[in-house]
Amino acid sequence: MLKGGIPLGRVLGVSIRLHYSWFIIFVLVTWALAASYFPTVYPDWNQATYWGIGLATSLLFFASVLLHELSHSVVAQAAGIPVKSITLFVFGGVSQISKEPQRADVEFRMALAGPFSSLVIAGIFWGIHIATINVSQPAAALAYWLAWINAVLAGFNLIPGFPLDGGRVLRSILWWRSKNLRSATRIASTIGRATGYLFIFGGIFWIFWGNWFDGLWIALIGWFLENAAAGSYQQVALQDMLRGHKVSEVMTRDCPTVSPRLTIEQLIHDYLLNTGRRCFPVVEGSNLVGLVTLNDVKGVSREHRLTKTVQETMTPLDKLKSVRPSDDLADVLQLLTTEDVNQLPVIENNAIVGMVARDNLLSFIRTRSELGM
Ligand SMILES: [Zn+2]
Repeated sequence: MLKGGIPLGRVLGVSIRLHYSWFIIFVLVTWALAASYFPTVYPDWNQATYWGIGLATSLLFFASVLLHELSHSVVAQAAGIPVKSITLFVFGGVSQISKEPQRADVEFRMALAGPFSSLVIAGIFWGIHIATINVSQPAAALAYWLAWINAVLAGFNLIPGFPLDGGRVLRSILWWRSKNLRSATRIASTIGRATGYLFIFGGIFWIFWGNWFDGLWIALIGWFLENAAAGSYQQVALQDMLRGHKVSEVMTRDCPTVSPRLTIEQLIHDYLLNTGRRCFPVVEGSNLVGLVTLNDVKGVSREHRLTKTVQETMTPLDKLKSVRPSDDLADVLQLLTTEDVNQLPVIENNAIVGMVARDNLLSFIRTRSELGM
């Protein structure tokens, strides 16, 4: 969902990104602080102080959001769950975690780490506020607002609706008690959707009450939460249906392979248009060297199609994720989602034995649900 954005570097092995929508909220928060909140509460500062403190407060607010997300990552990585990236966007931060926790106690600790760190940060800023109150009014004001917003952040995230942190805590407790991840997710995400609707209706009410800006904002957060809750449940339900089944049950075996020396023009006419397939393993001798897809071909401009080769266009083997025939389909779905690809090559003893695509998984699920299995 959050593709792209600006890479800011890596912290603790996690790549940090800024999504473009982040700039909207950054400008809004800075502007609301510098042009409205600080001038109302502290009427005797000058303009430079309003904007300087506004900007500094806003930057520290986003550093706080980042620390909240990083604390989830630290616990995840300690439990052996790699975290790919953290993206800051318009509604806060999201961590891209390579797989869901396999145990309830891990999810419980991972989820609590975020609100806990927000509370600690709130406490630190409260301490700074107390220490600076007789020294510098702007510094004390900055610390006061940051203590308050971090406490709000912790409180909001503790709402027991999935996929908020509080919802994850609730899910882990239900999961631990019932040993049933799917029903635990259904209950926690239903509360998440209900919370989302509550925010939407509360926001609309607020708009009619006259505060259209806050109202619109709350309604948007509600809409986002409702969507995320519904989507998370679907994902878990799908994984539940796939769990226990192997790649070898659904993979396509008769894969036409192509040579790395083929030009793109040849690939299009002899393979893409002829076979109706969108993805071809690239094989040299009997060794897999890469994978070329319709998407790769679309990136080659018309005038280069006669000269560019498959070798230059494909995803090479060392950058390619692959699966084995004995891998679990639930893990394959997770891998397709985090890598954001449509298919993966199936490899056994260094040779390609087939392909597994999203379509394979979907028709597997469709057939079984039509048969009532
Ligand atoms: Zn969190």
